[in-house]
Order: sequence, then C-alpha cells, then structure tokens
Amino acid sequence: MQYKRILLKLSGEALMGDRQYGIDPKRLAEYAKEIKEVVNKGIQVAIVIGGGNIFRGVAGASNGMDRVQGDHMGMLATCINGLALQSALEDEDVHTRLQTALEIKEVAEPYIKRKAIRHLEKGRVVIFGAGTGNPYFTTDTAAVLRAIEINADAILKGTRVDGVYTEDPEKNTNAKKFETITFKDVIEKGLKVMDMTAFTLSEENKLPIIIFDMNKKGNLLKLISGEKIGTIVDI
Ligand code: UDP
Repeated sequence: MQYKRILLKLSGEALMGDRQYGIDPKRLAEYAKEIKEVVNKGIQVAIVIGGGNIFRGVAGASNGMDRVQGDHMGMLATCINGLALQSALEDEDVHTRLQTALEIKEVAEPYIKRKAIRHLEKGRVVIFGAGTGNPYFTTDTAAVLRAIEINADAILKGTRVDGVYTEDPEKNTNAKKFETITFKDVIEKGLKVMDMTAFTLSEENKLPIIIFDMNKKGNLLKLISGEKIGTIVDI
C-alpha cells in the first residue's frame, strides 16, 4: 500500500448526489462502502467533511448576514454531515469517532490530537467536524491542518473531476490532465486546487495533495494501492 494514514477531504456538495441541497442517502452509503474497503486493508483513515450542501458563511454574508454568525452556521453544517457519515459508516460495521472543533460534547468528542491518533491506531475512522473551529476559514484548510497534526501521509481531496487540468475540463474538452504537478507550478499557472490558505499551509509543511474523482467506484482503493489516479500535487 502506498499510504498508511490518509486524510480524506469530502466536500459537503459531494454528499448531495443529484440533489440541490442536503444529503443523498444513496451517495452517503456509496462513500461508506468505498471507505470501508480502504479501512479493511489496514489503512488509517481520517476524514474532514465540508458543509456547503447545507450552509456557507459567505453565502449568508452576501445576503446581509453577519459573516461570523454565518460561519458558525457553516461549521455546524459540517457537524450534521459528520454525523450522517458516521451513521453510514456504522451501517457498514466500520468503527468511527466524530471529533469536533466546536464543543458539542453530548453529540461528539471534542478534537484532541492524541485521542484522534489513538483511535486511528485502533482502526477507527476519525471524522473531524466543525472545520478549524474558527470563522473565515474553510474545511480545506481544516483538512490540511488536521492532516499535518495527525501526521497523515497525504491529503486526498475527493471531487467530481478526476484531477488538476490545464483548464476547466467541464468548459473546455481540450483541457489536459496533470499526473503530477508541483505546488510552485500550480501557482505559476494560476490553477486552482484549494483556497490559498489551505494550499500554502500544505506546501509549507510538504504535505502532498491528491485530487481525484471520489464518485468513480473503486477509485479510493486504487489510489491507495499505488495506481495512478487523479493528480498529485507535491513539492
Ligand atoms: N467554516 C468555518 N471555519 C472553518 C471551516 C468551515 O467558518 O474552519 C464554515 C464556513 O462558513 C464554510 C462552511 O463552514 O463556508 C462550510 O465549509 P466549506 O465551505 O469549506 O465546505 P465545502 O465547500 O467543503 O462543502
């Protein structure tokens, strides 16, 4: 296996499936199955989940809402997604823990790095909710932060496109995919992998980012087994 401990980043929108809002139980169940396959290979899996399928602070602010208030709502949205994912994984008999950056201790454990690592070592999937716990950040930044903290080998960002392209492949059919690309080239070519805060945090800490299509069945396991799936962003 290529990786021993991974941080999987799933956006909230990915959970919508074909819906316009919220959570598609079918999609959630599919993801749980994909994750189970990897856990069964002895890979330690931590997950950061987004909240864009429910609420984004920026969207609230554009309608006149206080940004911090909106971001708190966004962070709570990630906890809702975390609980849903936890439930789907447990339906697959995968042991899990949800740890949140904002305390909601009747519902989830507070985030404690040492505890998270212990859970991973015991084969439990650890889902990190509430992002970084701070407004004005994204769950991509939370994903990089947690990945560094728990010493993950890489951050795997599951998206609906299968990597980083020269141009937007949904707009230009001539766009070419990179198998690997350096952090420096991503910036120089003006490509977008993550928001800048997340991206530079990853670069500074030499944490590789892999962008791949999480909706293609078996992709996650293939990637972990060393197959060339998606695009690797590295130093
Ligand atoms: N959020 C935040 N701090 C964080 C992470 C997230 O305030 O550290 C809020 C922010 O409002 C954001 C929302 O939670 O818009 C949902 O996260 P994100 O937009 O990253 O989710 P995704 O795009 O991955 O679904």
